[in-house]
Amino acid sequence: MKTKVIRMNPEHIDRNAMEEAGMILKKGGLVAFPTETVYGLGGNALDEEAAGKIYQAKGRPSDNPLIIHIADISDLKRIVKEVPEKAEKLAEAYWPGPLTMIFSKSEEVPYGTTGGMETVAVRMPDHPVALALIRAGGGYVAAPSANTSGRPSPTRSSHVEEDLDGKIDMILDGGEVGIGLESTIVDFTEDIPTILRPGYINQKMLEKIIGPVRMDKGLISADSKIRPKAPGMKYRHYAPKAELLVVEGKPQAVQKKIRELTREKLEAGCRVGIIATDESTFAYPEGIVKSIGTREQEETIARHLFGVLREFDDSGVDCIFSEAFDTPQMGQAIMNRLLKAAGQRKIKV
Ligand code: AMP
Ligand code: MG
Repeated sequence: MKTKVIRMNPEHIDRNAMEEAGMILKKGGLVAFPTETVYGLGGNALDEEAAGKIYQAKGRPSDNPLIIHIADISDLKRIVKEVPEKAEKLAEAYWPGPLTMIFSKSEEVPYGTTGGMETVAVRMPDHPVALALIRAGGGYVAAPSANTSGRPSPTRSSHVEEDLDGKIDMILDGGEVGIGLESTIVDFTEDIPTILRPGYINQKMLEKIIGPVRMDKGLISADSKIRPKAPGMKYRHYAPKAELLVVEGKPQAVQKKIRELTREKLEAGCRVGIIATDESTFAYPEGIVKSIGTREQEETIARHLFGVLREFDDSGVDCIFSEAFDTPQMGQAIMNRLLKAAGQRKIKV
């Protein structure tokens, strides 16, 4: 299959190209598109066969359900059994935006989209290209991140091409995404709304609107027998070719430890990568040092995390040491992704 890549200016959407993309979705094909979080791989959510193609193109385990993307709140009622009042409030506050909510599904949603589950995850993305595509494609677009399963989520269209060229019909290139981490997932099928995946919208921001919200035990428990409730969270998201270790603690102690570890590995003949920030690159005289962003603006760290992991995959290092990024708003989300990539390998100094 030849994958057509179309450059889309989010401020000035090319109507003809968008119509073509919408037609592909209506006919059961696949289109990758930018959202404010990461690039998504879209197919018609109400068409079981199209959903099947998404799993195939990504190599995604079939028990890992897809998020349905909508462009208008009024479209929600067709795919869910009921919308709790608190969910309505969150939609009002944060849609369109990086928030996914889980409801009991209606009969219109095929099990092929929900990985066999009775529940369905729904989100309204905050990106003009995504919203236009959803409308052009019939209103309901199932879209997981547009990466090969097990690789970091794509934050640029070139990442999508790396993974999916030749496997999907079209890629809409809308430039680099804004947030860079996948949406926050909140489950409304529990008695207390529960965060199944941390994201840009954190617990505090949710509680401000609806009161008490819980974290899924499987996310925070040190006991690996307690499984996360979102099927996708149990997979090691990203297995870098190099071994990744996260070093946590006060900045100077972390820098010293990473310098020592780097020296040891270099002496053993390894190639070493270091994930630092603009404030700390100077502290590492050895190894391949990449700045992920600045601690002054945590958005820059979130936005570049997946891209930096991809770059290290291409650079042939054998091990990577990363500073920890417990930043105020997105720290939990950033560390969740980083530790998954590290297979939970972390030391405290
Ligand atoms: P992705 O779109 O690739 O970022 O992955 C979607 C995430 O949402 C995965 O972690 C899924 O397991 C999770 N998810 C989607 N639908 C449901 C659902 N009905 N119940 C629980 N988790 C879900
Ligand atoms: Mg994903």
